[in-house]
Amino acid sequence: MKRWIIVLVVCGLLCLLGCQQTQTQAPISRSGFALDTAVSITVYETSEERAETALSLCFEELKRLEQLLSVTNQASDIYRLNHAGGQPVAIAKETEEVLRLSQSVSVASNGAFDVTIRPVVSLWDFSADSPVIPDAEKLKQAVQQVDYHHLTVESGSATLSMGEVDLGGVAKGYIADCLRTLLEEQGITSALIDLGGNIVACGSKQGEAWRIGIKNPQSTDTLCAVVTGTDLAVVTSGTYERGFTVNGVRYHHILHPQTGMPVQNTLASVTVVCQNSALADALSTACFVLGESEALTLLSAYEEVEALFVRQDGTRYATSGLSYAVSD
Ligand code: AMP
Ligand code: MG
Repeated sequence: MKRWIIVLVVCGLLCLLGCQQTQTQAPISRSGFALDTAVSITVYETSEERAETALSLCFEELKRLEQLLSVTNQASDIYRLNHAGGQPVAIAKETEEVLRLSQSVSVASNGAFDVTIRPVVSLWDFSADSPVIPDAEKLKQAVQQVDYHHLTVESGSATLSMGEVDLGGVAKGYIADCLRTLLEEQGITSALIDLGGNIVACGSKQGEAWRIGIKNPQSTDTLCAVVTGTDLAVVTSGTYERGFTVNGVRYHHILHPQTGMPVQNTLASVTVVCQNSALADALSTACFVLGESEALTLLSAYEEVEALFVRQDGTRYATSGLSYAVSD
């Protein structure tokens, strides 16, 4: 009799383990190159067909939004806006949304993030084989055109009275938000969107918190921290991302709107964590330009936005609500 009970208990346990295994969803990933960077999307979904359909739709949407927001594609909303000679231009609802968000962060950061920074950006070619520091006179002229007040956004249209718009500091974050919405519409509840390090973690990782690694700016193949949580965007602006070094000075892609030069302060990177990835993206750039102390004042105006500052000397500061672990 006793032996039967043991057999039944063992069978019951095996059944339970079996059930648990079928509930565990194998991740399905797709990677590619878009937005001038490596992108990958991973979904956890029991239906392989649903997962593959959602991934295909995401990559189509990524391409569509990239074309819409590109500064170089002559058919894009942004190119047309930049070359309209001050006339109003009809824009898609997505362009309107990202321009409005950019404008609001430009205002909140008092122009540290300036969405009209294109004249300065176009003088720097960080990916050239032999990059050079732009001519000082040209930089001086370019910064005179940078002023977010030149941009007016209305329902379905935008006008730029001077200069040019550049969405490099916000577009990846905005597009990641759009992809999350698309995945939700497709019934995907657990996914990780990685647009060149702009991360959106949808839902939970099979009931557990996601663990998002933050690169160590001093040695980018290692991590300096791991952010944990569910339903969150994690976006980093860092000197290591794009740039070059001349005579020991790092010239990187986060530029000061008033000088046109790469921002030099105590920071090596700023990571912003919140639900809205476009906001996290714009704020990470703004915080980097402002420097740690002013950045904290800016962030205090936003609810449920956390940040991790990594300084050039390797020390860190995290806002009190950030859930993270140090990784050395
Ligand atoms: P991120 O990596 O998100 O910090 O964005 C950097 C990109 O944003 C650059 O490659 C430029 O295209 C653009 N950018 C650089 N400096 C600024 C700035 N001060 N305000 C707004 N956009 C900027
Ligand atoms: Mg940014």
